Amino acid sequence: MQILALDFDGVISDSAPESWLVTLRTYAALRPATEVVARRDASEALSAAEIRADAGYRRFVEMMPLGNRAEDFAVALGLVLADRDAEDQSSFDQAYVDAGADFLASFHERFYETRAHFRENDPARWRSLLGPYPAFIDILRRRAADVQLAIATAKDRESVLQLIADYGIGDLFEARALLDKTAGRSKRAHLALLQERFGVPFGEIVFVDDKVNHLDDVAGLGVQGVLAAWGYNGVREQRLARDLGHRVCGLEDFEPALFG
Ligand SMILES: [Mg+2]
Repeated sequence: MQILALDFDGVISDSAPESWLVTLRTYAALRPATEVVARRDASEALSAAEIRADAGYRRFVEMMPLGNRAEDFAVALGLVLADRDAEDQSSFDQAYVDAGADFLASFHERFYETRAHFRENDPARWRSLLGPYPAFIDILRRRAADVQLAIATAKDRESVLQLIADYGIGDLFEARALLDKTAGRSKRAHLALLQERFGVPFGEIVFVDDKVNHLDDVAGLGVQGVLAAWGYNGVREQRLARDLGHRVCGLEDFEPALFG
């Protein structure tokens, strides 16, 4: 392994409390029915740790592997508000259809505006909801000299730079090893660019992501995928990843599995 490329949200950053609050704000702005407003207001007063303990938030996080885009957060929140769970992908997809294309398109646009407004106007609070996975940060510090570290993320560069500085790992990533949303729409595009920049064979790149479909996306290049079991996936996705030939690692076995 010459390059260890990392997804950001759900691998380095435990970002879901921020997604939950931005989802609540966006949803409440578009559909100011009493219940979502009350939930938003309750969450506004909570710390990241308190949000993580909230039952509604936990259901929201359990549904995260079933979606890919910002509007999927609206579908998940809609199910939480209706006191329903999505048992599988098809029931989540049905809830997506039921939510209506117009609402979801508005949500998508408004979600990113809401997030940008939050980051710009209340940066301390915003950053407080985007903590790291501390045990993974420790591994990166310990192993930084053994491998070229890289980030492949759909997040914007400015946010990633702020957060890795907060986490104390800003010095571990060279500028050319930080591939943000401008590097392309897919993880495949990110890793192709990484390979080009460093001139390293794809077979020497290991890519860690918490989404199985992102690992599938890069497997065709010959990149070795690792599912981060500490991120936003569950037993169902971990089984699927193994069936598809990907490695699955938790925080306790990641280091021995990759570095011996
Ligand atoms: Mg992720």
